[in-house]
Amino acid sequence: GYHRILEENRKLYNQVQDLKGNIRVYCRVRPFLPGQSNLSTVGHIDDGSITILTPPKYGKEGHKSFTFNKVFGPFATQEEVFSDTQPLIRSALDGYNVCIFAYGQTGAGKTYTMSGPKVLTEQSFGVNYRALNDLFHISKERKDTFCYEISVQMIEIYNEQNLSPYCPHKPLHVDTLDIRNSSQTGFAVPDANSVPVTSTTEVIELMDIGQKNRAVSSTSMNDRSSRSHSCLTIHVQGRELASGVVVRGCMHLVDLAGSERVNKSEVKGDRLKEAQHINKSLAALGDVISALAQKSSHIPYRNSKLTQLLQDSLGGQAKTLMFVHISPEFDAVSETLSTLKFAERVARVELGAAQVNKDNGEVKELRQQVASLKAALAKKE
Ligand code: ADP
Ligand code: MG
Repeated sequence: GYHRILEENRKLYNQVQDLKGNIRVYCRVRPFLPGQSNLSTVGHIDDGSITILTPPKYGKEGHKSFTFNKVFGPFATQEEVFSDTQPLIRSALDGYNVCIFAYGQTGAGKTYTMSGPKVLTEQSFGVNYRALNDLFHISKERKDTFCYEISVQMIEIYNEQNLSPYCPHKPLHVDTLDIRNSSQTGFAVPDANSVPVTSTTEVIELMDIGQKNRAVSSTSMNDRSSRSHSCLTIHVQGRELASGVVVRGCMHLVDLAGSERVNKSEVKGDRLKEAQHINKSLAALGDVISALAQKSSHIPYRNSKLTQLLQDSLGGQAKTLMFVHISPEFDAVSETLSTLKFAERVARVELGAAQVNKDNGEVKELRQQVASLKAALAKKE
């Protein structure tokens, strides 16, 4: 009996924790790729920390440790990585806004985490597909109490100026869209490019078409994907059948541009401009999160298109998960350290409890249950 109560208490407590909003940072280490010499800069990994071995010029000690909410080593599977993301999916259906970012230098595994490898198998599906699968699955489970409408929107931010929907119904032209405030949808882009969807297969088709359109519309396609932020936004609208109350949530799945710093002496012209825009927007993302943490009266959302776009999903009401990717190679060590420093700055942030867009009875009930279970436990002790 006692153990059951403990177990129950723990479960409920975790559920309440999951519903609390905060910023989580997970670090993922890519495995060595075929043909790479496997001299690793990763010294030690456990569930929540990672040690990087550093060449002498980075400090006397020869190693640096970083702490995160979770660290995934090179052998972590896509399924394992997703299992720690899953509670956020439910949150979107419950009316929260959720942002999931993939951060890291080019080649560190951002796209692998979000989408998967080029040739997809069921085991290798990334977070995007798994999240959508879960959304459809849970919304079906709840079909007797809720009626959900799910739609997706794909946006690419390239060079700050261009915000182009790479959506099949409005492809090719790189439109410059106005970003507006829209607290209703939790997304600052007009809904026009949003496409209703009912299954993961449909979304995969849309994404394929979107990718192709994007490829055609860009002039120098030479790995442009690593120099733009690509954002898949899923809007969820749920109507509770009994009360008619509507709950809206959304989830942004963002594959960020590569965070590597470009040597100014080596690049010129367009390439330099791109690099400056990327630095600016990634720095702006870090600034916004740290301003939120310090409860600053001014949150500098307007400093980049990215933060403007995600404004409604980065405040106190929202939940954020950042996957930080690092490569294990020794010659990446300088980028690895700067990636981990950026991540640590973000990880130190604790946002206040996220508020659900509607007062959620379930949360209250859970809190009461936890309180009474705690009281029961206290009596027994
Ligand atoms: P990024 O998007 O950060 O530039 P990618 O996701 O394209 O990096 O990864 C670079 C290469 O490494 C790709 O060939 C990818 O399939 C491979 N890769 C990345 N992460 C993993 C992983 N966890 N397991 C196996 N291969 C990976
Ligand atoms: Mg990529």
